[in-house]
Amino acid sequence: MKLVFISQIILTALLFGCSNMEPVDVLFVNANIHSIDTMHQSYTAMAVKDGKVYALGERADLEARFQAKSIVDLDGKHIFPGFIDAHCHLYGLGEQQLIADLVGTHNPDEVVARLKEHLPNIGEGSWLRGRGWDQNDWPSKEFPSKDLLDAAFPDTPVFLVRVDGHAAWVNSKALEIAGITANTASPNGGKIGLHNGMLTGILIDNAIELVRSHIPATSDELLQHGFSLAIKRCLEYGITGVHDMGVNASKIRAIKSMIAQDKFPFRVTAYIDGRGDEWEQLLADDERIFGEMQLILAGLKMYADGALGSRGALLLEPYEDDPGNIGVQISSESDITKETIRAIGQGLQVCVHAIGDSANRLVLNAYEVAIRQTGAKNHGLRIEHCQVLHPDDVARFSALGVIPSMQPTHCTSDMYWAESRLGPNRVTGAYIWKSLLETGVLLPFGSDFPVEHPNPIDGIYAACTRKDKEGKPSEQSHIENDFNLSQSSTIRPKQYEHGWFGDEALSRIDALKGFSSSAARVVKQEKYFGTLSTGSYADFFVIDVDLSSCSDEALLNSAVYETWVGGQIQYSKSEGSAQ
Ligand SMILES: [Zn+2]
Repeated sequence: MKLVFISQIILTALLFGCSNMEPVDVLFVNANIHSIDTMHQSYTAMAVKDGKVYALGERADLEARFQAKSIVDLDGKHIFPGFIDAHCHLYGLGEQQLIADLVGTHNPDEVVARLKEHLPNIGEGSWLRGRGWDQNDWPSKEFPSKDLLDAAFPDTPVFLVRVDGHAAWVNSKALEIAGITANTASPNGGKIGLHNGMLTGILIDNAIELVRSHIPATSDELLQHGFSLAIKRCLEYGITGVHDMGVNASKIRAIKSMIAQDKFPFRVTAYIDGRGDEWEQLLADDERIFGEMQLILAGLKMYADGALGSRGALLLEPYEDDPGNIGVQISSESDITKETIRAIGQGLQVCVHAIGDSANRLVLNAYEVAIRQTGAKNHGLRIEHCQVLHPDDVARFSALGVIPSMQPTHCTSDMYWAESRLGPNRVTGAYIWKSLLETGVLLPFGSDFPVEHPNPIDGIYAACTRKDKEGKPSEQSHIENDFNLSQSSTIRPKQYEHGWFGDEALSRIDALKGFSSSAARVVKQEKYFGTLSTGSYADFFVIDVDLSSCSDEALLNSAVYETWVGGQIQYSKSEGSAQ
């Protein structure tokens, strides 16, 4: 990358006369600029002024019109609007680096080994925390027991969240601090694990809170540190903004304080995590935008059910591999309706987590009542995940104007066992983003990090191929073994041959829109973010390949060179590398 400084510009100005030249901050030339606007136009030069895109066009034209403080020659590289992750947990990504990472462990003993390594980091008297274990990755595929943790850590409370956040594995010390015994009743929407009348150390959904509420609160300093770590990682992947699915008062305070200190080069559209004081405050407050559109308080996040992996997703019929179980309902239809009506009245949005077909129907029903009662049109009501849909409900999203907010990598993480949970019929309604898009909805995409890896490239690859990074499922792969279908009545190689239910794969441009323009549009921010257009914020990244047309291999190997937010460079590959 070549930086040509002001002397040359002045020379040009002197030669051609500077009277007509307007001053701008930076001129990017010799680039392939992808606008990702409705026309998907491309340009070779862009002028940036006061943090915004001032003009787009051809180099000669822009050089003749503008006097720039600096010129960046991109040597033919590509510029795309900054990625927007439409469903994630920003602090969780930073916290992941503060607590033990258990992703990819091959058995429970490996979890204990990693915890022993991490133990010296936590400080005296603290809880030993971890996140990311998944029993589906282990030989037994069964939930672990507290006994293993008790043997290794008899005196330190241990709290380990499952990869999907819907189960926790804890030791006896943690249960003791929380006052949980074998006689404690499970709360609504949760389960305290018992085996032969003894505590197992596994807590599902709302039961997790019984222990989590005893973990000492995180200090403001630590929160800001966690956010900084998270933002740094996002910028490495070209992410310039996120929809944060669950903030509370202390996180909002930390972000505002970072904005005031000019330490927050990022855009967060945030949703309050559950009903309570913070939600009441937001309903009452007029001020919802902070800094230079760095924090936007947009609405409320609620949960209708749990997750498919831990069989907490609420299904219309029992699980194929757990016949007595239809999952866990977390919110009632009437509660969702009530809060939605209040939110619409104050110009706020509601996002409800719904994974199972029954949970999705419940939320659609609740939204339908609220929309009818308020007469709202451009309400921006969202369902988060929409993983399993009954065929009758697919067209209801566009009919009601409800936004399906989906995460493509959930599909490629879950596809190995999704059919064993759902059976051969219901699985055809799982992760059906193309069917939804064809009904005319806007389709924002996210990663749900830290549940999945934050890199949007992984999501784009998953959305367009419906394959894992090894290219499975493919004609060559051993479908029967990889996809755990031995219990299933039918194997339909065709639906596994070209990606997992490959008919649901998207075009590259539709997937890119999911992580940029569509993500901005669903929060009514299309004037500011998600495209590169005159007047939008200069939030973008520079990359070596054309993401809209390169091969799948080139996509997976692509690397972001630089990330700019508000016209300022905030990440440069030469100064730090992505993990
Ligand atoms: Zn989430």
